[in-house]
Amino acid sequence: MVYIYKLFYFSILKDHIIYYFYDIWAKYPMKITSIKSPNHSIKERNKKRIKFIVLHYTGMQSERVAIERLTNKKSQVSSHYLINREGKVTKMLDEKKIAWHAGRSKWKNFINLNNQSIGIEVVNKGHQFGYENFSKKQISNLVSLCKILIKKYKIKKINILGHSDIAPLRKTDPGEKFPWEYLAKKKIGYWHNISKLKNYNFNKINFRRLFFMNLHKIGYRYFIIKKASKNDLKVAKAFQRRFRQSKVNGLIDQECLQISHYLANS
Ligand SMILES: [Zn+2]
Repeated sequence: MVYIYKLFYFSILKDHIIYYFYDIWAKYPMKITSIKSPNHSIKERNKKRIKFIVLHYTGMQSERVAIERLTNKKSQVSSHYLINREGKVTKMLDEKKIAWHAGRSKWKNFINLNNQSIGIEVVNKGHQFGYENFSKKQISNLVSLCKILIKKYKIKKINILGHSDIAPLRKTDPGEKFPWEYLAKKKIGYWHNISKLKNYNFNKINFRRLFFMNLHKIGYRYFIIKKASKNDLKVAKAFQRRFRQSKVNGLIDQECLQISHYLANS
């Protein structure tokens, strides 16, 4: 009866139906299998250094191709975990090892976030090969995995990031279909509560400057607050992929400004 009520309630909004099914799948137990990757730094790190979780999509034609790449010595890339479309979790590296998933990256005062992060790849063809919705089983097992890691390493929710957050000029993953809002409801990462535009008196002339001041406070880098540059568009798109997923055009509008304002001041 409770579920019938719930289903009726959530059917009012499309997104909420999807969330409802994520929750149902979350009741299934999660198994972790292992395939080792040779791609990691020789030195092991201290547990205390692990501060971030960086989420990716694989962006390849298939799961098989992605695993081949992540375990091929020549590719020089790897991640700690991979979650396939069926939700199967594969561990590729011990968390003490530094995986090569983030590449050149910045967030706040951190550079090269491989050193401080755990990388999780979620199988999806990505923007290049046919970007698809993430599956219910993938997301519910991602939630379970993140919860384990957050507890184990005391990772703050503001330190759960997407690859495009820390490398906005080069990367677009996990992209605008990634359910960040749902994850935030599960205390994984964070979100905002801007659903309607409020009456802030933002001066239009300062739109760009205010927006990038907020982004800098949130943690984004690769732009100059005082001076517009060709990087602006890519950084603004990365912000939209994360926090305003309905429209990813790189244009700084009233809604983007308000969301950034909320995030920078909360
Ligand atoms: Zn990535």
